[in-house]
Amino acid sequence: MEFQHLQAFLLLSYTTPISLKKLPNEYCGDHDSSECSICKKQPWWEIKTDVGVIKVGWRKRVIELDWSKTGYKIDPDKITTENVTKGSSYIHCWGYGDLLNYWSSLKNLIYVERDVERAEAWEKEQKAKAAAQ
Ligand SMILES: [Zn+2]
Repeated sequence: MEFQHLQAFLLLSYTTPISLKKLPNEYCGDHDSSECSICKKQPWWEIKTDVGVIKVGWRKRVIELDWSKTGYKIDPDKITTENVTKGSSYIHCWGYGDLLNYWSSLKNLIYVERDVERAEAWEKEQKAKAAAQ
């Protein structure tokens, strides 16, 4: 994804990156990316956000959105019921519109997961405190 497009995506999705890392185009496969024109023109990006590290980049006709590094497994059918290639840590987006929609849904789903985890941790702590008394 070209840097200008990445910037537009971040801006339109209200995502303030904590850090950005340029990666070789993973659709290219195993090769010398320093000599590759596709990697130069269409790199992939690793974006550190407040919900963890996500990765975006163009495959042939779709943009891959990968959130495996966040550690959260999300049911992709909650992101979209459309018949696209998807798993619990990645989804293929048909263009920037889908990328924006899917990332917005994903972010909210991760917020919910995180809130549940926090509530459970709090409850456990309260129980431990009560038991100690
Ligand atoms: Zn390449």
